[in-house]
Amino acid sequence: TSVERHPAPPPVARVPDATTTLVEALRWHTRIHPDRVHLRILSDSSQQLVTYADLWRDATATAAGLLAHDLRPGDAAAIMLPTGREYFTTFAGVLLAGGVPLPVYPPARPAQLAAHLRRQVGILANAQARVLVSDPQAVRLARLVRGQVEPLRHVLTPDQLTGSGDTVAVARHPDDLALLQYTSGSTGDPKGVMLTHQNLLANIRAMGEAAAVSTQDVFVSWLPLYHDMGLIGAWLATMYYGVPLAVMSPLDFLTRPARWLWALHTHRGTLSAAPNFAYELCLRKTTDAELDGLDLASVRMLYNGAEPVQADTMTGFAERFARYGLRREALAPVYGLAESCVGLAFPPIGRGPMIDRVTRDAFLRTGRAAPAADDDPDPLRFVACGRAIPGHQIQVVDPAGNPLGDRREGRIEFRGASATAGYFRNPVASRALIRHDWLDTGDLGYLDDGELYVTGRIKDLIIRAGRNLHPEELERAVGDIPGIRAGCVAVFATSGRDATERLVVLAETRHTDPHQLADLRNGITGVSVDLLGTPPDDIALAPPGTVLKTSSGKIRRAATREHYERGHAERRQPVWWQLARFA
Ligand code: ATP
Ligand code: MG
Repeated sequence: TSVERHPAPPPVARVPDATTTLVEALRWHTRIHPDRVHLRILSDSSQQLVTYADLWRDATATAAGLLAHDLRPGDAAAIMLPTGREYFTTFAGVLLAGGVPLPVYPPARPAQLAAHLRRQVGILANAQARVLVSDPQAVRLARLVRGQVEPLRHVLTPDQLTGSGDTVAVARHPDDLALLQYTSGSTGDPKGVMLTHQNLLANIRAMGEAAAVSTQDVFVSWLPLYHDMGLIGAWLATMYYGVPLAVMSPLDFLTRPARWLWALHTHRGTLSAAPNFAYELCLRKTTDAELDGLDLASVRMLYNGAEPVQADTMTGFAERFARYGLRREALAPVYGLAESCVGLAFPPIGRGPMIDRVTRDAFLRTGRAAPAADDDPDPLRFVACGRAIPGHQIQVVDPAGNPLGDRREGRIEFRGASATAGYFRNPVASRALIRHDWLDTGDLGYLDDGELYVTGRIKDLIIRAGRNLHPEELERAVGDIPGIRAGCVAVFATSGRDATERLVVLAETRHTDPHQLADLRNGITGVSVDLLGTPPDDIALAPPGTVLKTSSGKIRRAATREHYERGHAERRQPVWWQLARFA
């Protein structure tokens, strides 16, 4: 098959270094090359082109509409819209009006709207949102939350926000908030990371330098626009650099992962990014027939971040897609977090994935990452996630805050111009975040010659018999058992009555037959004994939907544990049946 391909975009001038806000960057592009295509919004049958001039014009009208609805400088304006032209227009419009965009996750299905909105109330109230922009469907229901979010004045659709006023662009200072970005909520409730224009530009420039971005790059993305990687990494960064962004909705990718790969082909994509699970989906949910004629030779960097990067995924992806022209060196594991805007560690360009093999027992007992011998049958494997982006520093510290030497596991801290000043209206969490000049990531890892290896999250770590247990490895191994839903396994510890930690494996399955369930339990016990030398204290088999996840698909272990514990307290029933009520 041959699919028509776009030529590479012509090179253009770069934004002046003196630029200090996102609005200035957008205005600069609009003035210098108004007709340059900024967005290619993809759907199956068509693509919609949006130039800088288009975006500026629509955003100006939206800004006028927002000001007419009493948005005041510094007010949060919540945006709950799916990927589409209106999302970009509304976000830019809020900035032009001097407001602070607050992206919130749009419901996947209309039927879930009411429950979905209830979950967002906490975020809207914490952010003191004054306006909520959503689609007509949602607006009807969203009016219901107005009473619960005290400052919320207006719930509007984008087309209600068209004013005239082409001079709107409320001057903002580099230190003003440009985004309230809520964390995913993997370890607790989402927290509102305050990001200024200065933070965002610093992060975009540091990542751009680490990626050697040029105006001939093309970014292809299906990432949600309500999360840092899709919002900042894919959109705001490309807006700043004048790099065209070919963007499709996450649902289009999830229903057919090959669409992402074909978009890279068609648009001659050079850059893209996704969490590890997306690379897994491509491996498992694309057929050779579907990929016939695919050419990925244009791809320069394919970033993998936002959740643990699996060595097997990287290796498998490189092997499978080599025949489509994908270079192994293009695969780039990265590390980041909302508190650093998005990116914090990037690997050197052209290196390819680097996998560290570490002696298992010594590491789990002492936190020393001793390189495993070549004939070690069972090492731990960690993927290098790169080094601190330019102008930023990463250190690994012991519980007392003292920096540790190379290959010693500890708490990951960072500092640099991307670092947030704290969480919005959350002094307790902000105090815990900032330790002297450094920010605590809540993650564990080790450094080797500047290269960061992420080993887990402090809150998810289980300590048993003097050994540290990171849930991820066991979760993965259990997910590989046929009959268990891959990616739908949570491993956590609950404290029993006598204060000893009980190791629990909660795994989703569609099976209900008692014999099959017994087989699955045996399988899980075997895997646990192999990896940890001990069986779990409890194995809970549960129907799909029981393992709680963030909107970005990360497992919420603490929340899942709470449900598990409550289930136990309420009734004495087979565990999988109790848990069905939480689906
Ligand atoms: P919350 O802070 O609310 O618990 P969250 O930490 O998942 O949620 P994000 O800021 O969206 O919210 O995600 C950042 C986190 O994602 C990091 O702190 C880290 O735990 C994880 N992460 C990101 N990149 C990697 C990576 N390459 N390897 C392992 N973990 C990663
Ligand atoms: Mg976090």
